[in-house]
Amino acid sequence: MTNKYMYFIANWKMFGTLKTLNSLKKVISFSNNLKKNKLRIIYCPPTTLIRPLFKKLKKSSIEVGAQNCHESKKFASLTGQINASMLKDVGAKYVILGHSENRQNGEHNELINQKIKTALKSGLKVIFCIGETLKEKNKNQTYRILNHQINNCLKGIKNFSKIIIAYEPVWAIGTGKIPKLEDLKKNIFFVKKKFKNKSIKVLYGGSVNTKNIKDLKKISTINGFLIGGDSRDPKKFIDIIKKTYN
Ligand code: PEP
Repeated sequence: MTNKYMYFIANWKMFGTLKTLNSLKKVISFSNNLKKNKLRIIYCPPTTLIRPLFKKLKKSSIEVGAQNCHESKKFASLTGQINASMLKDVGAKYVILGHSENRQNGEHNELINQKIKTALKSGLKVIFCIGETLKEKNKNQTYRILNHQINNCLKGIKNFSKIIIAYEPVWAIGTGKIPKLEDLKKNIFFVKKKFKNKSIKVLYGGSVNTKNIKDLKKISTINGFLIGGDSRDPKKFIDIIKKTYN
């Protein structure tokens, strides 16, 4: 059982309706029975569910985050867009930024940098995703890519206390594959070293499931997990958390 403070962040992506929220009863009662300050559970549902989920979780220690935001701090004539202060207004405390699914849709490092700055200024904490593609991994470019993403996306930011890094190799997301443990350990070490800051939190994300968690938890430098697919099944999500501690 680890004694560390761990993050378990659920990224629901574009899944879920109001009805889905009923399935969270189990997670709420599970979290109510936990020693509160040992772990942090954060749900990042689609934007439509942030407010109802926030209300549902009001009496629990589970927090709510968003999955993306616009880079503008001001209100603007931008049809379909939502900025960080609007997310905070409805109960979000965190926002995931730099996710590879959004990078694949054209988000580049400079834009992510603007989004991170706006989110921090608006009072949100940032879950900042980085990670290499399979092609980059095969060319031994992982460190170069991580370095580039961190330097460019965090340009001009000096205080990292409200930033959590999620190392998510693109090739591991939704594929059932995870990095070799020795590679993962090295990559987490690389990221932490770059910040020269022992308190920076670095999570792992990419196909975390109830089976591989037994191996992943062996890497004591990991501060938690960003979980996609298996976070939508409360039973599996709870199981992952339990197995991290047993
Ligand atoms: C993610 O997309 O952030 C993620 C970790 O997804 P999955 O767990 O489904 O690989």
